Amino acid sequence: TQDRVFNFAAGPATLPESVILKAQADLFNYQGCGMSVMEMSHRGKEFDFIIKKAESDLRALLSIPSDYAVVFLQGGATTQFAALPLNLCSPEDSADYVVTGSWSDKAFKEAQKYCKAKTIWSGKPEKYTKIPAFDALEQNPDARYLHICGNETIHGVEFKDYPTPLNKDSILVADMSSHFCSKPVDVSKFGVIYAGAQKNVGPSGVTILIVRKDLMGNAQPITPVMLDFKTQAEAASLYNTPPCFALYICGLVFEDLLQQGGLVEVEKKNAKKAGILYDAIDGSDGFYVCPVEKSVRSLMNVPFTLQRSDLEKKFIEEAALEKMVQLKGHRSVGGVRASIYNAMPLAGVEKLVAFMKDFQARHP
Ligand code: PMP
Repeated sequence: TQDRVFNFAAGPATLPESVILKAQADLFNYQGCGMSVMEMSHRGKEFDFIIKKAESDLRALLSIPSDYAVVFLQGGATTQFAALPLNLCSPEDSADYVVTGSWSDKAFKEAQKYCKAKTIWSGKPEKYTKIPAFDALEQNPDARYLHICGNETIHGVEFKDYPTPLNKDSILVADMSSHFCSKPVDVSKFGVIYAGAQKNVGPSGVTILIVRKDLMGNAQPITPVMLDFKTQAEAASLYNTPPCFALYICGLVFEDLLQQGGLVEVEKKNAKKAGILYDAIDGSDGFYVCPVEKSVRSLMNVPFTLQRSDLEKKFIEEAALEKMVQLKGHRSVGGVRASIYNAMPLAGVEKLVAFMKDFQARHP
């Protein structure tokens, strides 16, 4: 609708208009039950249907094998930074971290409190613009898991393929917060996938955990009950009161993604959007610069700078006047960042590209 902006925020982020409108229509009196989803018992039959459908739609979207549990949690992806070593390691066990940006670095630092976590590769010297060659990774043969961040939200680097842990008992663990459900993923390559919902699949408040069932049940004794994968999975995400309304919205998003034809179709749209934006940057004769190595550029978060950094503030302000908002880069890196998650329409990216060309023409 006309009064909505194109919201390029990194998260919480734009949601499909159809989802917002559906939630609005059902807000006051959910499907005639006389109350809203915010007010109903999480153990009643309406909510039981909502959460079960959300899980089965997500399973269908990602073709999640039956030997994996799907759990809806709270506390954000950040809480999982601690939950992973607590569930997968003893304090003496080691775990390998590939640090491709700020988020994997945070995950590593938190894990150090609960196991012998080690950074086996860091992109920091190259300002987090690369993904390592997998055969160059010096994996620790005793590591219980190999952790990656599939898409670094701040730096805009994305794994296009995934490394294999060195030993057979080790597993690959991925933070997929900022590219969750943006493309098909072979879940069977991972032991654990986790993601905060607030970028691609819903509002903040829901964290999705996909975990191979045989990995549960060995949590360290000090593990808080809320962080114990097995407790949460056995209670079917209802060990305590879940974020009911946020989960309901996630369910509507999953339904919408299935209606679009699933993640194969969604990925095509995302590739098209990212393609025209990167082309505009690369075709600007250096007016706009994206520092990320081309082969690993994110389809979701597109960071760039202006050669004349004194113009960045003006760029962001003028874009906002044209209803393209939240384009400021993360406070830690500056510059511009356009987050173009699933729900960003092609029209939003086209409008941004047209604005970029016009802005450049006005600043020769
Ligand atoms: N990992 C990634 C890749 C993220 O982008 C974020 C949030 N921006 C987090 C983890 C932290 O997520 P949360 O705020 O849900 O704890």
